[in-house]
Amino acid sequence: MAEKISYLLIGGGLASACAAESIREHDQQGAIAIISSEAYFPYHRPPLSKSYLIEGDWEPADIYHHDEAWYAEHNVIFHGGVRATGLDLNGQTATLSSGASIEYDKLLLATGAGLIYLNVPGSDLEGLYYLRTIPDADALTKASESAKRVVVVGGGFIGLELASAFQQRDLEVLLVYMEDRLWERMLSPEISRWLEDHYRSKEITLISRAQVAEFRGQGQVDTVVLKSGDTLPVDMCALGIGVRPDLTLVKNTPLEGANGIPVNEYLETDVAGVYSAGDIAWYQDAIFNKRRRVEHFDTAKGHGEVAGANMAGERRPYRELPYFFSDLFDLEFEFVGDFDLKPDRVDFTGELSENTFIARYFQQNRIFAAVFVGREEEEIEAVKEEILEAQSQ
Ligand SMILES: Cc1cc2nc3c(=O)[nH]c(=O)nc-3n(C[C@H](O)[C@H](O)[C@H](O)COP(=O)(O)OP(=O)(O)OC[C@H]3O[C@@H](n4cnc5c(N)ncnc54)[C@H](O)[C@@H]3O)c2cc1C
Repeated sequence: MAEKISYLLIGGGLASACAAESIREHDQQGAIAIISSEAYFPYHRPPLSKSYLIEGDWEPADIYHHDEAWYAEHNVIFHGGVRATGLDLNGQTATLSSGASIEYDKLLLATGAGLIYLNVPGSDLEGLYYLRTIPDADALTKASESAKRVVVVGGGFIGLELASAFQQRDLEVLLVYMEDRLWERMLSPEISRWLEDHYRSKEITLISRAQVAEFRGQGQVDTVVLKSGDTLPVDMCALGIGVRPDLTLVKNTPLEGANGIPVNEYLETDVAGVYSAGDIAWYQDAIFNKRRRVEHFDTAKGHGEVAGANMAGERRPYRELPYFFSDLFDLEFEFVGDFDLKPDRVDFTGELSENTFIARYFQQNRIFAAVFVGREEEEIEAVKEEILEAQSQ
């Protein structure tokens, strides 16, 4: 006989942890279970590419969202190291890698995003690292203790954060990326150039418009070969080339969307009683009036809170501007708005040369996004209001 649970949360990340908290605020009785393929309690990933990696002596519990005692105190069952392997949506039952099955009344799918791996000759060599989990960060920390020279692949936020962390661990860093300029998706050309100068001032070698053709070595990578034919000797290589939603669990069900699990602004799927939140959720953004997936901390948190409340009987819409932060050396970045759009005008407040500014992005005189470096909370809130107002017209 399958165990019966009121609220089954599949995925052991921030979105599920916040959903559990929110459900408990609204329903003190219903049984809640979290199923996580990771052995750790839900934790914060942002430090993994920042202080956790730079300092190298953090414990997993330092980044738990709730400590172990919280689960017992709030009567939330946590099944770690177990995967959900199958779903029977009509029978409201999930099957697990342990062989057990669980019946549920309400289901949350918060399985996050999975790493994209580079598949070129030599991809199976030792010394190539990716970063998503605590064990990944521990492996990177250990490898960087003996390495002198690292090639980081990827000019987006993970690549930039890895390059920053390794430089602060005193490694020689080469950053290889396909685009013309750094963080092309989020930054205007002027901001990219300024950031490139900052990275060069830290003696990081930037190699733009470059793609990896091959990794070479005898068991362990010792050379990165670029498509240009250039060869880069290395001790280790770290890749941050993106993530994608892993839809294996919902394959061939009505929950399988083109870019994640489709949900409305209440984070409900088309299947009654089934919700989705966080990196996997392809949600209806009521502000920009389009479907989107956001792979960032604040969205996972906000989605979890709203989905949890709605699972427990509330009817709350998720209406937030996409928001994201990143720390690169001493530069504290914050981003607000829709970065799928491209600006035809960028207005600056403050000075790039002083490492503190606000860049407002406009299209046809309508603000849709902004980049902040080293700015105060009140300023960010004020610009959010500007964007909300512009988008409501
Ligand atoms: C290194 C790193 C740095 C980051 N830095 C920032 C930052 O600076 N700012 C920012 O805004 N965001 C940052 N992020 C992004 C942020 O951490 C994610 O958006 C957030 O973790 C998403 O939470 P989630 O709960 O949706 O998914 P996840 O955190 O991916 O959690 C999903 C969990 O579900 C598990 N799972 C998957 N399939 C199954 C299954 N079938 N059965 C059971 N369990 C399953 C996964 O193993 C995982 O544990 C960073 C991410 C990483 C990796």
